[in-house]
Amino acid sequence: MTTALPEPVRVDDVGSWSDEVDVLVIGAGMAGVSAALEARAAGASVLVLERGGRLTCTSAMAGGHFYLGGGTAVQHATGWEDSPEEMAKYLRLMSPACDPEKIRLYAEGSVELFDWLEALGFEFERSFYPRKAVIQPNTEGLMFTGNEKCLDVKEVAKPAPRGHKVPKPGDTGGGGVVVGLALDKLADQGVEVRYETGATALVLDGDRVVGATWKSFDETGAIRARSVVIAAGGFVSNRAMVEEYAPDLLAIEENGMALGNTYDDGLGIRMGQSVGGVAENLDRVFMTGPFYPPEEMLRGIAVNKDGQRFVNEDSYHSRTSAFVLEQPDRTAYLILDSATMLEPAYGFQPLVDGWDTIEEMEEGLGMPAGALVKTMTAYNEAAVNGEDPEFHKAPDYVVPLDQGPWGAYDLSAGKCFYAGFSCGGLQVDVDGRVLRADGSPVEGVYAAGACASNIAVDGKGYSSGTQLGEASFFGRRAGRHAAGA
Ligand SMILES: Cc1cc2nc3c(=O)[nH]c(=O)nc-3n(C[C@H](O)[C@H](O)[C@H](O)COP(=O)(O)OP(=O)(O)OC[C@H]3O[C@@H](n4cnc5c(N)ncnc54)[C@H](O)[C@@H]3O)c2cc1C
Repeated sequence: MTTALPEPVRVDDVGSWSDEVDVLVIGAGMAGVSAALEARAAGASVLVLERGGRLTCTSAMAGGHFYLGGGTAVQHATGWEDSPEEMAKYLRLMSPACDPEKIRLYAEGSVELFDWLEALGFEFERSFYPRKAVIQPNTEGLMFTGNEKCLDVKEVAKPAPRGHKVPKPGDTGGGGVVVGLALDKLADQGVEVRYETGATALVLDGDRVVGATWKSFDETGAIRARSVVIAAGGFVSNRAMVEEYAPDLLAIEENGMALGNTYDDGLGIRMGQSVGGVAENLDRVFMTGPFYPPEEMLRGIAVNKDGQRFVNEDSYHSRTSAFVLEQPDRTAYLILDSATMLEPAYGFQPLVDGWDTIEEMEEGLGMPAGALVKTMTAYNEAAVNGEDPEFHKAPDYVVPLDQGPWGAYDLSAGKCFYAGFSCGGLQVDVDGRVLRADGSPVEGVYAAGACASNIAVDGKGYSSGTQLGEASFFGRRAGRHAAGA
């Protein structure tokens, strides 16, 4: 694994071309198939290179949440009001580092994206899952998958559920249903997806990208293209890049796993950089160790090793995790009393112990004398009235934790199981054009999906479904622009 950039090949050094196409797409995940379909629809000849096999992409592992709103058919059918304006307000609050214009376009184009996805050949179920969970357990089409209902957020943007799930029961594989349908459609339209063939470098004519070199087992070659769309995934599987740019992801080595496939090695990002593109937000990560479901776990309080709370526990799981990993020594505990004690469904957090008194618990957890007692006394006093004046946890989850004995689950890095992926990527404009440091586009090259930086900027602001949503939305825009370029 390396952080090295693949040396671009000069066009004069290419002896012969194996193929000549209008648009070459690198990667057959959600971003790549979306770009390819749109480029083809715009009349371009298209070839997709895929280093792995059919559905070995990270998109195929995904649960199948797409973050969509502004009045989708599922929102209407289940009685939820939403508008592009409210959706954009929410996303601006959650992703302040993202260009507001990208958010506006995404929110305004969300219903059309919903329709485009369904036109691939499936229907999001017209049903709503009302509980707090990581993903709908069955085929329910809609649930809240972000921080929309948290107090500071709901005062800015009217809450609406936007986590649309592909109707596949379970936690994984929904993304694969959609990419599979898109691959079938590409085949129907005569677009070749060449598997086990990895792009190795970009080809330059002056400053302009005019193709890419490839390798398939022992064979190598070069493809001439009017435009190249890089849709090659993130870099969570590249140890050297993680160490250099996103060391927060190293917590998964202590106890956890990478949310990605083997080829999430950042080669796409490095190809873009090799021709003058710049990457942004590479230090930002999505890390999560959800302690819910069951939803009732949210009645507990999370405290750091100083016995202090630091987040509203009803936040979206990667937001809570991001705050945990910022605490001293990345140490935190979820405290419950005997009336609220349950087991986290995923079993990621070990139970530390149980104690008869809060004083004993604070000592057992190595906290300064009196610190946890003070925190819990204040919390319990307000909780009697269903209030959480400090962090504004929703009243549904606020009860006094005053029924001993008490127990603590360990949320600390190394103890709790954390899963993560990289969020940063190539800086791109609204049409996916790869940008230089001065903001000018590198001619002939685009990027979309996890190798580009768009709306999903970090775990604190992440809402489930944003990655597949933006991969398809900005992938399609890149494909269209590339076809017309
Ligand atoms: C378990 C799990 C659950 C998730 N659930 C969700 C969810 O429900 N909703 C959501 O929004 N996000 C989810 N995510 C995140 C989401 O899956 C990814 O962010 C998203 O799929 C990225 O799409 P992509 O098209 O950019 O990359 P990918 O789907 O990884 O596609 C990139 C493709 O490029 C190929 N490639 C790489 N290098 C080259 C090269 N040099 N030449 C040719 N091909 C190359 C790779 O083999 C890969 O197939 C989940 C992730 C995981 C792991």
